[in-house]
Amino acid sequence: MSTSVAGSCPSQAFGAPSKSSSRQAQISPIYEDSARRAEAEQAGADVTVQTQHSQADLLQADSHKCRGTRPVQVLLNHAQTWELMQEEEETLKAINANNKDLHEVLKGLKSWSFDIFDIKKDDLPKMVERIFHDIGLFEALPLDASKFFGFVNSIMGQYRAHVPYHNFRHACDVLHATYLLLTLVEGQKMLNTLEVFALLLAALCHDVDHPGVNNAFLSITNDPLAIRYNDLSILESHHASTTIKTLLAYESTNILAPFSEAEQRHIRKLLVEIILATDMDHHFKIIEMLKSRSSDSNPFECSPPYSMLDSRHNSGTFPEGASSSSQSSSGSQTTVVPSRPSPSSTKDATLLLKMLIKCADISNVMKPFFLSKRWAALLLTEWFRQGDAEKKIGLPVSKNMDSENPVALQ
Ligand SMILES: [Zn+2]
Repeated sequence: MSTSVAGSCPSQAFGAPSKSSSRQAQISPIYEDSARRAEAEQAGADVTVQTQHSQADLLQADSHKCRGTRPVQVLLNHAQTWELMQEEEETLKAINANNKDLHEVLKGLKSWSFDIFDIKKDDLPKMVERIFHDIGLFEALPLDASKFFGFVNSIMGQYRAHVPYHNFRHACDVLHATYLLLTLVEGQKMLNTLEVFALLLAALCHDVDHPGVNNAFLSITNDPLAIRYNDLSILESHHASTTIKTLLAYESTNILAPFSEAEQRHIRKLLVEIILATDMDHHFKIIEMLKSRSSDSNPFECSPPYSMLDSRHNSGTFPEGASSSSQSSSGSQTTVVPSRPSPSSTKDATLLLKMLIKCADISNVMKPFFLSKRWAALLLTEWFRQGDAEKKIGLPVSKNMDSENPVALQ
């Protein structure tokens, strides 16, 4: 995982007049990982010699170094931007407050008004576990609670805390929206347990290790990630790959271990498909598939039902947590997992999974306005940082990313 990206002041990204220095202390809580921040500051102090960092990291860090000397601009003549800026400050205060009791906050989990900013970052994995419990996955699947927390904490650690929008809180927010959408469309009647499991995992991991710049920036700057993935769904490929690596990295985080090899392969395939669907370059292709399917009068075709519990009962020989390569307690003979059909997903189920993650990923715009504004402010902060980096290296500033021309926001 790459490091760096010096901490920058979101207020400076907005060019806030005269507030910038006094707000520094308020802004600091957004950098929730002090160790990473220290590394980032170090990187920002001498970015020219740290060639092992990605191009995006270096450019961002360099951009942040120079921002402190940039003259304050008159940016606030756009009412909407001013409002967003105020909201950003409120958001940071909310993150800083974190006084609310988790048990009380989670009582509102089933509502679109659920305020995820009321949860301390370190408590977010508990919210994740609560959602998996509520959906019934701990009952339906052989999930080990200790491994589950190990995996979630590992994923949380790979989200970059200094990235204003695409951080672990956004991941948990998308997971929460997925959870609500599943309920809204009665998704569990159309998706089998493995598909629901893959969907929730994908929601949690869909932006892991996001550097805070977009695919176009990575491509035009010849970032190592762009080279690795041949400019194709660069970030989404990286998020999916990082997810799979995290699952396989350690026994203590491999929550897929109890599944058969065929089941593991199927879950991995679904994870990749669902995460890649969040690439907006695929948006119109997916929408066309949805339109085409919507005009088809055939009923929704569900995938074959999946139940590990039923399989065990049917066979009578499948031990808890065993896989196709498990050994018997004596260690003398490999226990053969009773044959059960390899899991598969229909086209309809796959399309529904893609639509659910896509809707959840951009759902904050349809939430109550007090939440929408916060997320918009954080996204704008991230975009302005990229715009500043583009100016620094002489690239045209991307649409909506020019902090000095907020009137152009569309
Ligand atoms: Zn996202």
